[in-house]
Amino acid sequence: MALSALINLGIKKTANSTNIKVTITNWVTIITCGLTLFYALYFYAFLAQRDATLINLFFVACYAGTFLLTSCHYYRAAKLWFFSVFICHIIILTTQVFSPAVGFQFYFLILPSGVFLLFDEDESYEKVIICILGIIAFFVCHNYQNEAPLVLLPVEIEKVIFIFSIIIVMLENFIVMSVFSLAISRHQAVLNEMATKDVLTGINNRRTFMLVGEELVAHANRYNKQLSFLLFDIDFFKKINDSYGHLVGDQALRLVARVLRNNLRESDSLARYGGEEFVVLLPETDELAAKELAEKLREAVENLSIPLKGNQENKFFNCTVSIGISSTLSSRNNGDISLNDLVQQADEALYQAKGTGRNCVVKYTSDKAVEFQI
Ligand code: GH3
Ligand code: MG
Ligand code: MG
Repeated sequence: MALSALINLGIKKTANSTNIKVTITNWVTIITCGLTLFYALYFYAFLAQRDATLINLFFVACYAGTFLLTSCHYYRAAKLWFFSVFICHIIILTTQVFSPAVGFQFYFLILPSGVFLLFDEDESYEKVIICILGIIAFFVCHNYQNEAPLVLLPVEIEKVIFIFSIIIVMLENFIVMSVFSLAISRHQAVLNEMATKDVLTGINNRRTFMLVGEELVAHANRYNKQLSFLLFDIDFFKKINDSYGHLVGDQALRLVARVLRNNLRESDSLARYGGEEFVVLLPETDELAAKELAEKLREAVENLSIPLKGNQENKFFNCTVSIGISSTLSSRNNGDISLNDLVQQADEALYQAKGTGRNCVVKYTSDKAVEFQI
């Protein structure tokens, strides 16, 4: 309970990217306080060094000051405070309490990755200044000669603390790199989703359709395979928007997309082509099979009940689609057919479907689009 309260300290109710940095700052402060406390206990219990213990306890209190600042939403000040305390702490441990032989100065190597972890993109000055200070402090501490440090440790103990410090530095770098690589993969997944999917319906967008379509058409041309193409257009969709509002229109688009997806095979490629237009590429499917499927889809949409929202709850309406069909083998005269040809031919068939009363399926022929008997 107390730990989760500390982790969420200073978090604002509105979800934003700053909250992630605040959480990370809280985590880093908790870990640093814990590590400093651990050293304090070690100095007290195993080395019987009261002064070194008290100095470390004093720094635990200083690090805890970061919580005070984050809880008041002074995020930048909190981070600056944390790093200032950190630099002072390491300088005092290395030059006053112990000697550089203990290796506390290697904690400065944490600073470059640490500042990138805690500071935001626009806080470049802070990052650069703290890194420069860290480099200077490292060299000063590393070459510092203090003949009479507060605590003189046996060489074996110095070696143990030295190795422990190096392990902690390596561990910190590993954890920070893991956090960054996780963040990159998550962002990549989001970008990929945004680039390939339609936001409203969740099915492939036009861009993905073009990429997948080019490949399928090339494959069909190369191996002389059947590939059929369906172009859907919802009938009188403008009326739906005008009568029930755009939100209901959006819901209709989502439901139509879902019905189409649920009635297709895994290998069929469905996409939202434009506003209220959908397309499907059917590999290894001839005209006749495409026509049967188009009929099935047309009926499925016709039977779909779309709910009205607001004060007209529990009321439903229906919509219909007109479908144009084109196919590779039937359309090919001489040589290969392109994806654009397929789209254009299906568009002509669709135009015919709209002209012949809508809610029907029309296939393209080289003379003119011919309506299937329903
Ligand atoms: P037709 O039967 O001839 O196809 O008539 P229609 O009204 O469906 O055709 P039209 O092209 O005139 O209208 C398409 C409408 O689709 C117009 C546009 O406002 C609407 N639309 C396009 N994209 C969206 C969307 O994402 N959401 C909603 N709600 N409406 C959209
Ligand atoms: Mg349209
Ligand atoms: Mg329409």
